[in-house]
Amino acid sequence: MGRISIQWYAYVIIGAVVVLASVAIDIYKMLLFIIVGGVFILIGLIKLLLLGVIKKQKSIVKHKSVSPPFHQAKQQHAHQQQVTKYVRCRVCSSVNYSHVDRCHKCKTRFR
Ligand SMILES: [Zn+2]
Repeated sequence: MGRISIQWYAYVIIGAVVVLASVAIDIYKMLLFIIVGGVFILIGLIKLLLLGVIKKQKSIVKHKSVSPPFHQAKQQHAHQQQVTKYVRCRVCSSVNYSHVDRCHKCKTRFR
C-alpha cells in the first residue's frame, strides 16, 4: 500500500471548493471540474476509509501484543493477591499487614 502523503480532508476540502466554485460559475460549462471535484472528494473519503481500517488493524495488533486475555487474567489475579496482603484499619484507616490481628497504630483488633 502506498503511503498517504496528503491528508484525506485536504482532498475533500479541495474537491468541495472546486465543485462549489464550478456550480457557482456555471454548472454546465464547469461540468468537467465538478466531476474532478467529485473524484477528489471520493479520493478523500477512500483515504479516510483506509486510514480507519489501518488504525483499526493497528489497535487490534497493539491490543493483542500488550494484553492478551490470558496474560490479563494472570495480572488481575496477582493484583488481587497483593491487595489481600494488606488490610486497612477501620478506626484510623492506616494500612496493616493482613496477618497481624491488631492495628499497629491504634491497636484495634481486626478479628
Ligand atoms: Zn488503627
